[in-house]
Amino acid sequence: MFDIIIVGAGPAGLTAAIYGRRASKSVLVLEAKAWGGQIINTPDIENYPVVAHISGFDFANQLYEQAKALGAEIVLDKVVELRDLGDRKEVVTPRQTYEARTVILATGSENRKLGVEGEDRLVGRGVSYCATCDGNFFRKKTVAVVGGGNTALEDALYLADLAEKVYLIHRRDQFRGEETTVAKLKQRENVEMIYNAIVTRLLYEKRLTGIEVTDKLDGSVRTLALQGLFVAVGRIPENENFRSLVELDPSGYAVADESCHTRTPGVFVAGDNRTKAVRQLVTAAADGAVAATEAVKYLNQ
Ligand code: NAP
Repeated sequence: MFDIIIVGAGPAGLTAAIYGRRASKSVLVLEAKAWGGQIINTPDIENYPVVAHISGFDFANQLYEQAKALGAEIVLDKVVELRDLGDRKEVVTPRQTYEARTVILATGSENRKLGVEGEDRLVGRGVSYCATCDGNFFRKKTVAVVGGGNTALEDALYLADLAEKVYLIHRRDQFRGEETTVAKLKQRENVEMIYNAIVTRLLYEKRLTGIEVTDKLDGSVRTLALQGLFVAVGRIPENENFRSLVELDPSGYAVADESCHTRTPGVFVAGDNRTKAVRQLVTAAADGAVAATEAVKYLNQ
């Protein structure tokens, strides 16, 4: 029986582990894929206080080491169900059932897809959701990034250093992401912005060879010959397995205020899978601290 089981080893989950251990509680972190969460895809973090520049990969590794050094157990296992038995919770994975007095859900989110024919089968053959993982395969080639948030902007900037040409395709005429990154992109000669446009067709044989882009205003279709398509159109919160114990909003985010409490006593939610206005590394870490502190209060009651 653990004091706290944390589901998800991203910045929120690992920060919660640090706070839980520093309060002398036993902590197990269960992670389905790899520790670090989506931040490992960010090439350069420059908006985390004190740290002027760090790669997402290094950030994740250092956070992992910090949580481990404080005594958190971190296990790769996918949680498929959560059961509430009052002052005891069961956390179910395909391998076993773990028990804890409190649970913090820090599961983050997964990639949203474009939903264009061929998208799934072309992953690894031209379609990617991670510029820092796959960008290197497209040195001196032509690529497109789709999306208008910070991920799309940062991906385009990263790829502009590698690829010969980068199209940045956004469905509106204004980006959602930071103005400073937009300004940097506008200075790059090999970046072409295509506004008010959506990708309507993928052209391929064995690999992606091009895309068709439809202008939303006049319906005209433009064909772009390219080798890589980086999809950065947001993420979907990973909360479905907890629906019976946690209220979800219409977009699937776990409903909780800044206290990180869910409707089930002893179950907390932290990070990008929670309803909130600002989803950033610093707010994910803050959520981890709050959720663990609330869990400790609950345990000490
Ligand atoms: P996001 O902010 O939700 O942006 C998703 C973008 O994709 C939006 O521009 C959206 O268009 C567009 N989109 C959604 N569905 C689409 C579709 N089917 N077809 C075409 N376009 C579509 O997602 P994100 O960029 O992944 O960022 C997620 C969160 O992480 C944000 O809060 C972001 O600020 C944060 N983040 C922070 C950093 C950093 O701090 N360094 C880095 C990366 C991400 P609309 O604008 O029209 O809705």
